[in-house]
Amino acid sequence: MIEANNPNLTSWLEVPSEHDFPIQNLPFGIFSTSSLSPRVGVAIGNYIIDLSALNESGLLTSLPFIQSDFTSSVLNSIINHGKSATSSLRNRLSELLNSNSSELRDSISLREKCIIDMSSATMHMPINVGDYTDCYSSEDHARNVGKMFRDPENALLPNWKHMPVAYHGRASSIVVSGTPVRRPHGQLKPSDNEPPIYGPSRLLDFELEMAFITYPGKPLGSPIPTSEADDYIFGMVLFNDWSARDIQKWEYIPLGPFLGKNFASSISPWIVTLDALEPYRVSGPTQDPKVLPYLEYQGDAHYNIDLEVEITTAGGDSKVVCRSNFKHMYWNMRQQLAHHTVNGCNIRGGDMIASGTISGPEVGSFGSMLEISWKGTKPLAMPDGTERRFINDGDTVTMRGSQTTDSKVRIGFGEVSGKLLPA
Ligand code: CA
Repeated sequence: MIEANNPNLTSWLEVPSEHDFPIQNLPFGIFSTSSLSPRVGVAIGNYIIDLSALNESGLLTSLPFIQSDFTSSVLNSIINHGKSATSSLRNRLSELLNSNSSELRDSISLREKCIIDMSSATMHMPINVGDYTDCYSSEDHARNVGKMFRDPENALLPNWKHMPVAYHGRASSIVVSGTPVRRPHGQLKPSDNEPPIYGPSRLLDFELEMAFITYPGKPLGSPIPTSEADDYIFGMVLFNDWSARDIQKWEYIPLGPFLGKNFASSISPWIVTLDALEPYRVSGPTQDPKVLPYLEYQGDAHYNIDLEVEITTAGGDSKVVCRSNFKHMYWNMRQQLAHHTVNGCNIRGGDMIASGTISGPEVGSFGSMLEISWKGTKPLAMPDGTERRFINDGDTVTMRGSQTTDSKVRIGFGEVSGKLLPA
């Protein structure tokens, strides 16, 4: 077991019970305050540890980092040090914050310098995302879409169970939680018998996803096998892949998603490390037919993370519209990364690979309005008496994710939230 994951650890900093960020989590993010420029922080309870202040004070000197890694306004330079460096950084932070450790606890001046009240901080986009790829790895989601738009008897396309299908997305429009998203304009074809029109999307949707962030990979031409994939994954975030269904429907043949997707995707600000997620591993579904050898993997490579999506109307009424779980994925992250690189495609530190919409098997666990309203045919009643087929202007979509182990350690991702503005 990674010592920083020990369920018996407690911190001298107060962490409310059921909090997403106990000492066993220690997620990384970029924060600023009225007096501090954006820099690297780690969350514990309702506090942020300012790593630049910690390093300046000589408390991180045994590690392979330099001060500019911590004063950077993105996490890329930390991540580019690789897994053993970031793991030892998290372990060192766990040591310093442990109830038994006095180095930081007993120095009022160090505490004043290094510990920030989270309520006084603004969170920023944590990564300069180099490349972004979106997968399509939930069988229930792929089946639902296949049933709606193709043949209910043959909902999955012939390739689906042989490879984790994906497309290359747009990195520049990935934004941090809290950033409003504007309803996009584009080409629509509302009637089969009429020519296309230009106008605001009428079918604006969310997609409940998670995404992982990579360490620097291997040189161009060298695949990453499933057995090594975990060493190339820094951590994960919640990911809302905003989607304009009407733009998507008209444009996607034959080259796939484009303007229906690339106007915005939102992520949660705190990156939960793969190390911290270790206790939440579970086995995946039986894959039948048997996958090709390069997609085979050993052990538990799926993660038990409860997920939910809430819609809040402009008037402030909220409703949870989906409860799903990341363990429902058919293809896991090891397989996604092995497939992504099997042709020699190289990944870089700070690339982002999203899961695709995470739907569960039952009604109530579908991860998009497209599925929840079944293409608009089953409107959803909201608490204020209105109905939703898709997302209305002024609605805020919030996604959360967390899990509790048998030893009662709960870790979570905080939330990703975004308000839809009118076109
Ligand atoms: Ca997607």
